[in-house]
Amino acid sequence: MSITIRNAVLAEAPDTRLDLAITNGRIAAVGTNLTPAEEDIDLGGRLIVPGFVETHIHLDKACILDRCTICRGDIQEAIQQVASVKAGFTEDDVYRRASDTLAKSVARGTMRMRTHVEIDPVIGLRGFHGVRRAIADYKWAMDAEICVFPQEGLLNNPGTDALLRQALEEGAEVLGAAPYVDTDSKGQIDWTFDTAREFDVDIDMHLDFGSDTSMMDVDHVCRRTEEYGWGGRVTIGHVTKFSYLPRAQLAMLAKRLADCGVAVTVLPSTDLFLMGRDHDHAVPRGVVPAHELLTYGVNCSLSTNNVMNPFTPYGDCSLVRMANLYANIAQIGVAEQMAECMAMITNRSAKLLNLPDYGLEVGRPADFVALDAFSPASAVAEIAQPIMGYKRGRRSFTHPLPQLHRP
Ligand SMILES: [Zn+2]
Repeated sequence: MSITIRNAVLAEAPDTRLDLAITNGRIAAVGTNLTPAEEDIDLGGRLIVPGFVETHIHLDKACILDRCTICRGDIQEAIQQVASVKAGFTEDDVYRRASDTLAKSVARGTMRMRTHVEIDPVIGLRGFHGVRRAIADYKWAMDAEICVFPQEGLLNNPGTDALLRQALEEGAEVLGAAPYVDTDSKGQIDWTFDTAREFDVDIDMHLDFGSDTSMMDVDHVCRRTEEYGWGGRVTIGHVTKFSYLPRAQLAMLAKRLADCGVAVTVLPSTDLFLMGRDHDHAVPRGVVPAHELLTYGVNCSLSTNNVMNPFTPYGDCSLVRMANLYANIAQIGVAEQMAECMAMITNRSAKLLNLPDYGLEVGRPADFVALDAFSPASAVAEIAQPIMGYKRGRRSFTHPLPQLHRP
């Protein structure tokens, strides 16, 4: 089956209309006035992107809001609430909720994903196995990898280390961490680097969650990244403490992160919901200014994190909405910075995940999403609807353009 996509605008060249030829699931040509194919689609100058990339989402604990009660709305309560219902998770239950969340993500234009999955002696590997089955079912529309991590502690929670190792032996692609839940946070970080090196996997940590900047783990992570030669393979997520740093200190930290090759994922929806609960007015936003980190050469992504659970009681799995939410919180009004928000859910996220075959270039898999927008900046500003997607050259979803019924 051959397909030609006509009059598309690419983020890298927003002033040029291009055609894409698709053959055997791959991009065969990018140019102008390409030869007609069996299927010919005119996008009328709309934007196409190589699919959104979700770098940080929790499929195993998505959609459990109806089992939980939120009172304080802080991180400790969220961990406790999930811990109390997690004992009742079966593999089938995880599989169903992960499948529903994947379906929503596909419909919102996401085509690549890293999902974090909790491992501990209570859930064992049930969450991991349930998510893995769901990922296998959605292979036609989504390439997803699993990052296993100890949400309830590693050194404080005996038996967790052996289970994490078992998950890695069974093929978990990435090793995560949550050092802030262990008494010895640096000990957890050291174990994570040792184990990542042993299994030759990338690292993606939940780090520096909170507001107390006198105690931060980021320096230790940078040091270990350099010592282990793991630059380009380490990501830290949330890092809400960064948002409490004065600008000059943030700049120094950004240079350090860029130098040692540590990437940052910002999770605006969760951070806005959980942070600043000790304030009764002028609540701090707790969201890291990723666009400032970018100017120092740090790679950053924006991601969903949680969907309909005590960490984030919202969620439609829309990354373009997340980019808009971030732009709004970060007070971004300039088109170039707005376009960077699009990059942080596409190219930059793909770089963070070290995806070698991502992008609208000849020879790459024909993965792309058309948006009802005419530039990356307007797509973010207007939360543009993805109108269709192709995964490896096959249509994976369609949202017809709205039709007004005038009198
Ligand atoms: Zn997370």
